[in-house]
Amino acid sequence: MKDVIAELTRIVQQVALVQDPKQQVRLIVDQIAQSLDCEVCSLYRLSSEGHMALLASHGLDADRPVAIPAGAGLVGLVVRTRHVVNIANGLKHPDYFHVADLLEERFKSFCGVPLVNNGEVIGVLVVQGRHAKKLSAKHEAFLSTLAAHIALLLPRLPVSNDAYVSSNTPLLGVAAAPGVALGHALPCRRDSLADVATAQDANVEQSLSDWQALLARVETDLRKERAALGELVSADVASMFDAYQMLLFDPTLSERVQSSIREGYALTTAIKMAIQYYADLFRAMDDEYMKARHEDVWHLGNKLFHTYQHGHPEMARQASDHDAVILIGDDISVSDIAAVPTKKLKGIVCAGGSRLSHTAILASALGIPAIMGVHGILDVAEQEVLIIDGDEGQVICDPPEPLLAEYRVVIERERNKIAGLDKLRDLPAITPDGHRVCLLSNSGLLADMSPGLRQGSEGIGLFRTEIPFMASETFPTEEEQVRLYRKALEVYRGKPVTMRTLDVGGDKPLPYFTVDKEQNPALGWRGIRFALDNVQLLVTQLRAMLKAAREPNQLHVLVPMLASLDELKSMNSLLDDTLAQLTDEGVEVYRPRLGAMIEVPAAISQIADWRPYLDFISVGSNDLSQYLLALDRNNPRVASRYDHVHPAVVREMQRIVKSCRELNLPLSVCGEMAADPVAVLLLLGMGVDHLSMSSARLPKVKLLIRKTKRSVAEEYLSQALVLGSAREIRELGNALIQREGLLELPNS
Ligand code: PEP
Ligand code: MG
Repeated sequence: MKDVIAELTRIVQQVALVQDPKQQVRLIVDQIAQSLDCEVCSLYRLSSEGHMALLASHGLDADRPVAIPAGAGLVGLVVRTRHVVNIANGLKHPDYFHVADLLEERFKSFCGVPLVNNGEVIGVLVVQGRHAKKLSAKHEAFLSTLAAHIALLLPRLPVSNDAYVSSNTPLLGVAAAPGVALGHALPCRRDSLADVATAQDANVEQSLSDWQALLARVETDLRKERAALGELVSADVASMFDAYQMLLFDPTLSERVQSSIREGYALTTAIKMAIQYYADLFRAMDDEYMKARHEDVWHLGNKLFHTYQHGHPEMARQASDHDAVILIGDDISVSDIAAVPTKKLKGIVCAGGSRLSHTAILASALGIPAIMGVHGILDVAEQEVLIIDGDEGQVICDPPEPLLAEYRVVIERERNKIAGLDKLRDLPAITPDGHRVCLLSNSGLLADMSPGLRQGSEGIGLFRTEIPFMASETFPTEEEQVRLYRKALEVYRGKPVTMRTLDVGGDKPLPYFTVDKEQNPALGWRGIRFALDNVQLLVTQLRAMLKAAREPNQLHVLVPMLASLDELKSMNSLLDDTLAQLTDEGVEVYRPRLGAMIEVPAAISQIADWRPYLDFISVGSNDLSQYLLALDRNNPRVASRYDHVHPAVVREMQRIVKSCRELNLPLSVCGEMAADPVAVLLLLGMGVDHLSMSSARLPKVKLLIRKTKRSVAEEYLSQALVLGSAREIRELGNALIQREGLLELPNS
């Protein structure tokens, strides 16, 4: 190997080009063995039991799963020392561990490099050679550098099929909808539009007419599927299909497809190009919710593709063989879900997707667990029995009978619990010693709304109005906004609805209003800064909100990302002007209560200065934690360090609550803190009495509040305030919840 950097770059790039994780590991070991000209290169990965499982090897023949017990052998030595072990003759080393049948004794030299992720050794990369000779310093450095890249890749690789079948190592993913379920795997495996190879088709007229026919057919299918789901969940949830329909009838989608056909591309290629364009637009957004919408775009693309190929797969028929099925697949669309009889559908596991996918939202609404990002799920065989845990984000494949029996008991208990939580729906969230908390829901889509009401939500605490702006092709008109806001206000008639003004820019770019890429989007042109600089949008939005509100006191207006008094004063006078404008036009309007989001740390010390211009405060704990900790929680490299019960966040939170109390300023919390049981205990201890969260989390929070005496929460808070880490605060809170049974239903 002459040029180390060039060789490194070559291997990293080659691996990145391969999609299949199994091929990726093969490629890694083969390429390293070739580059270093050594006989053996092996990749070991830490299993959940603590042993090192051989994931792939060039040079060792493993015809059965190989696992080195925790801490054993030279591999164990690398793990313990967290350091490279480079020795001429491993066979003579006191730590040498013989693995039967592996015929490793043929190889003397050993160089093992730890694979470290988030500070933990998660695997070991080993090269071995026939001759007793240490690896050169240059090659050792090469291996260490490559190991840093592989360590980033390793968590995404599946455990080998045999290994997990024999040990029941759970497959891990992102917990997206809560609950535990048991059922037979029903794979949703089809060719994907993404894999369609670019093809030409000279028969332009035929392709154009096929496209029109396809649009009509898919539209009809969507309508039928929507109706099928609409009977089981609310019309609002079924209106998720609107997202597909909107895209389907978006003239620019059709124009793109037709123009590619005219350029000579085959219909499927033309569809893929147009879908890719839209998906990329969404995927480029930093806002988690909008980023997740790229999945909807692919779902629609795949639906078009499959319908064109051979219609929808007959999942309903396959599913009928079992009473309980778990839908598994790379990417499961709302249409796929609608194709399975809902009585049989017990859960969903996707290799792709995110917590905010429509798939996850729909699973929550159907009351079934969903887990996203489970890479190994694609290796699971059809009909295999699965246990899925949507609270922990794990899947157990082919569980042995004793484990199945255990889980049947858990599922039965869960079923009773849900029935019990349902009984709480119309009861107030009040502590046993009389502290009443108002529980509200966060919303953004009309589809999110009625589940909130069904869960006993007392109003909308945060309506993210930017979502309809981002889902649209252009700025929505005043009339379009009036219709949307009025619908929300009508659904929540008699209850408060807090609408946040446009929170775009920076990390949430509007596809049709992209500005130059910013160096530091989180600190850039976003929230109120963007809105005030584009005041015409803000005026239109305020006009629409005021026109939509027909009940006095129902509408509250919330301003995101405030950092200075000037911004608040500008917002206030804008509201006055808009009210005056509408009154002049003869429209009957009510002055809404005006609130500030506390998200920028600079806001905390200014609450008293802002008081004269404010009616309420809402703490956006997601951004507040991100800015206080200088941690981008969407960045996987640092996400594990992010925790909204970090001592600094808890202490600042208490400072905010104290200021508001002194200033007689109503306060609510609308970030993720409001739905996290440990954080809720802390907030209860502080005396917070308004919490807003996604509606699926609401029943559990209500149960916690109804079981926790305010005095107990106060005591916990005072202990937490002197602890030095989020981990200790969590441990203490979880121990309290366990000890006092704070999440146990009475008599369950
Ligand atoms: C927050 O930052 O906590 C919040 C609720 O706003 P968003 O998540 O929409 O930025
Ligand atoms: Mg925010």
